[in-house]
Amino acid sequence: MDLLNGNSVEQRNRANDYVHEVYEMVKKRNPGEKEFLQATREIFDSLRPVFLKHPEFIHNGILERITEPDRVITFRVAWEDDVGKVQVNRGFRVQFNNSIGPYKGGIRFHPTVNSSIMKFLAFEQTFKNALTGQPIGAGKGGSDFNPKGKSEREVMRFTQSFITELSKYIGPDMDVPAGDIGVGKREIGYMFGQYNRLKGGYEAGVFTGKDPNHGGSLGRKEATGYGTVYFVEEMLKQTGDSFAGKNVIVSGSGNVAIYAMEKAIECGATVLACSDSGGYIYDPNGINVETVKQIKEFTNQRIQDYLKFHKNAVYYEGCRNIWSVVCDIALPCATQNELVEEDAKLLIQNGVKAIGEGANMPCTEEAVLAFQAKGVLFGPAKAANAGGVAVSAMEMSQNSMRLSWSLEEVDEKLKQVMKNIFESCHEAAASYGSPGNLVVGANIAGFLKVADAMVAHGIH
Ligand code: NDP
Repeated sequence: MDLLNGNSVEQRNRANDYVHEVYEMVKKRNPGEKEFLQATREIFDSLRPVFLKHPEFIHNGILERITEPDRVITFRVAWEDDVGKVQVNRGFRVQFNNSIGPYKGGIRFHPTVNSSIMKFLAFEQTFKNALTGQPIGAGKGGSDFNPKGKSEREVMRFTQSFITELSKYIGPDMDVPAGDIGVGKREIGYMFGQYNRLKGGYEAGVFTGKDPNHGGSLGRKEATGYGTVYFVEEMLKQTGDSFAGKNVIVSGSGNVAIYAMEKAIECGATVLACSDSGGYIYDPNGINVETVKQIKEFTNQRIQDYLKFHKNAVYYEGCRNIWSVVCDIALPCATQNELVEEDAKLLIQNGVKAIGEGANMPCTEEAVLAFQAKGVLFGPAKAANAGGVAVSAMEMSQNSMRLSWSLEEVDEKLKQVMKNIFESCHEAAASYGSPGNLVVGANIAGFLKVADAMVAHGIH
């Protein structure tokens, strides 16, 4: 018997063998799906102690089932461009798990979209959505369509064609998409309009991230970025610290990045740098978020254009180099695997104290380990960026009740959700033998909720 943990060597071996065998099976079944395998590996590593406490999950084949999507839909999206040429893209929707609610997760339009990226995002969403405490299952979708350089009408025609096919598989109690990279309220508006046209009704609850003027929730566009800052503030509180007086860098300058910057500044921090896929800007006076909104949110220019308005700022080519800026807190809010081990080492060398993942899986596994080894506070994406989907679930509630909550009401609820998420991650980490490790805590807390529901619902 292992006296420390109350488990026999046989029990430990059984749990380890189970995790190992299932991972080998997942690898074999999903060859070459780099991002999906990275996301599953990271979860599996955390879950070993769970199978010691809960052998019934082994008996019920939970790991085998939770890593296999309920269904993956791929489809042709044909549309006509402005010069009359037929274009073809590929559409995806991965409906990963609906044990605790209808499938829920964003739609991404970006040329890199492929099956591996869709599956990793939908898999992560399973645990993230469970952590919010709301009744939402997990999905993700998108297309390899590149909205950059397309006219307004081209975006509309593409989006209408995309949703014409996807409309067969979604609905307010079935699957509720939202935005993600390349999809904001304009694209959600086109999807919603086309869906209602096809169905001949008005199903407000089929999408979230809608314009607040027609069914959207106030506070949704701010939710992911604000939520990330609320989560990091909770982490800092544990060490008697806060955002006040800190220097922060934020990668990206899209929806998540803009509102993470806005909230960090409101909390008393100075944001020194932000980026887009071309490069980053450094402003010694602190980034002016209103200017970034003008450039990126309203007119879709390049972040370099910030220099036209702020003469002291400097632009550097190459977005990765943003991690060389000396800071106390770094919030990667752009895309997956944007922060690798050598960036982590540089940040550590420059004295970083806390990392909050605003984007999905922005840090590689090696980068996360490097931060943890040096005691840097680390808020993993599935917990730290869950605020967006949490407010999406609030949008679903408001649509069902045909009511709208005020911005203050939504923000108050968001703050509470992020605090609860932090506490459940913190507690799960402590009770499963990894105190302070929020990566392990988030994986375990999210997993337990979904696994319990899967056991209760029987084998299917
Ligand atoms: P947006 O499309 O609004 O913005 C993405 C931003 O990241 C753009 O500024 C883009 O620049 C920039 N970017 C892309 N690649 C890089 C790179 N390698 N380095 C630096 N910047 C880069 O997307 P969102 O803000 O909505 O999403 C960002 C991340 O947050 C994604 O991982 C998404 O999955 C995640 N997320 C989003 C949620 C939401 O509510 N929107 C919810 C939860 C997670 P450019 O303009 O040059 O392309």
